[in-house]
Amino acid sequence: MFDALSGRLTGILDRLRRRGALSEADVAEALREVRVALLEADVALPVVRSFIEDVRAKAVGETVLRSVTPGQQVVKIVHDALVAMLGPPAPGIDLNAPAPVVILMLGLQGSGKTTSAGKIALRLRTKDRKRVLLASLDTQRPAAMEQLATLADRAGVMSLPIVPGQKPVEIARRALGEARQGGFDVLVLDTAGRLAIDEALMAEVAEVAAVARPHEKLLVVDAMTGQDAVTVARAFHEKVGVTGIVMTRMDGDARGGAALSMRAVTGAPIRLIGVGEKLDALEDFHPERVAGRILGMGDVVSLVEKAAATIEAEEAEKLAAKLQKGTFDLEDYRKQLAQITKMGSLQGLLGMLPGVAKVKAQLAEAKLDDRILKRQLAIIDSMTKAERRKPEIIKASRKRRIAAGAGVKVEDVNRLLKQFDDMTTMMKRMQKLGQKGLLRHGLF
Ligand code: GDP
Repeated sequence: MFDALSGRLTGILDRLRRRGALSEADVAEALREVRVALLEADVALPVVRSFIEDVRAKAVGETVLRSVTPGQQVVKIVHDALVAMLGPPAPGIDLNAPAPVVILMLGLQGSGKTTSAGKIALRLRTKDRKRVLLASLDTQRPAAMEQLATLADRAGVMSLPIVPGQKPVEIARRALGEARQGGFDVLVLDTAGRLAIDEALMAEVAEVAAVARPHEKLLVVDAMTGQDAVTVARAFHEKVGVTGIVMTRMDGDARGGAALSMRAVTGAPIRLIGVGEKLDALEDFHPERVAGRILGMGDVVSLVEKAAATIEAEEAEKLAAKLQKGTFDLEDYRKQLAQITKMGSLQGLLGMLPGVAKVKAQLAEAKLDDRILKRQLAIIDSMTKAERRKPEIIKASRKRRIAAGAGVKVEDVNRLLKQFDDMTTMMKRMQKLGQKGLLRHGLF
């Protein structure tokens, strides 16, 4: 997701950043390119226009152009405008209402609505420790009801028993009664999807909403549908009101424009993103992080969180302390590598590292895969404890011994040491910048 856009924008902004002085014409030219890149990524035209105007107004002022680092500042302005376009951070799901809190799932057929209902149920059960009842109102497709019951099983939550022949509104009433009597904290109602927006669907949804009085009306849209997603969102929002958007298939290679313009066009914030078919493939949407990722500034926070979720919490704390004290050594690096192999796809993780959009493309060409990681692990494994603690003692003869032990060339050992060195330097830099508050903006 966002790969093409990210590559384009990083290229344009890199050129700006490298220049010493900037003129209004330089900025105008860069903005023309940014405009094309956004349009090609499928961002809605009015959204692109106001984005460019916003950036231009802020970027061509004296203070920016005359500053010591005009390029850097323009990049920051673009970053902030991107964050503004994506909207303020929204809570994943708002449960701030008397139980049972009703969540109504809306969307077209195939958007990932039922799957998202299951994902939300799992999340509410495990993260928020809520008792969840799932109910399908899809009377059009009995298979959909069964699908939801199966998902409920997998998510470890209850689903409303299926009673054939009931209308959606009747099911909604029954579900509410069941949720109240059964002492459930949350009731998730999955409505029927249609292939396209139609009046009957909207009328049905409005009727259900009147009965169920949902606290959250979450619209599920497929990021792959591009501009259509925006049209669908607008229609639902006008007819029934939407409190938030769940964007699915963010793991795919959609150009991402729909996600970028959703907030500006509908006014409803993106709350959650679906990043895979599995039930735990649901994430919060963080405008700051997404903007950082698009601009190739990486998403260190997500990376650390992802790592922390996989690494034992205690282990993560130890690592963080070592990073802070600057005592991070090859032993720790080895642990990290081992964790990364556990965490799964290297490509996915790479997208979260700073400045990596370009590198990622090159690596993809070089067919970088987990074998490289395994090789690195083997190299560290053939070092002595002392060498891992103090990599600087590894001189030529030690390198030859380590290479032989791991069955690799001396260059491979050199590469690993260089990489480790770069990484510790980057961490030190990040930490310094972090203290100045720049890390928050992703400007490192
Ligand atoms: P519904 O008709 O809107 O209820 O759609 P479903 O929930 O049945 O989803 C349709 C298909 O999309 C299923 O094969 C899901 O596994 C898949 N799907 C749903 N969400 C995601 C996602 O975030 N990423 C990916 N890759 N697939 C998804």
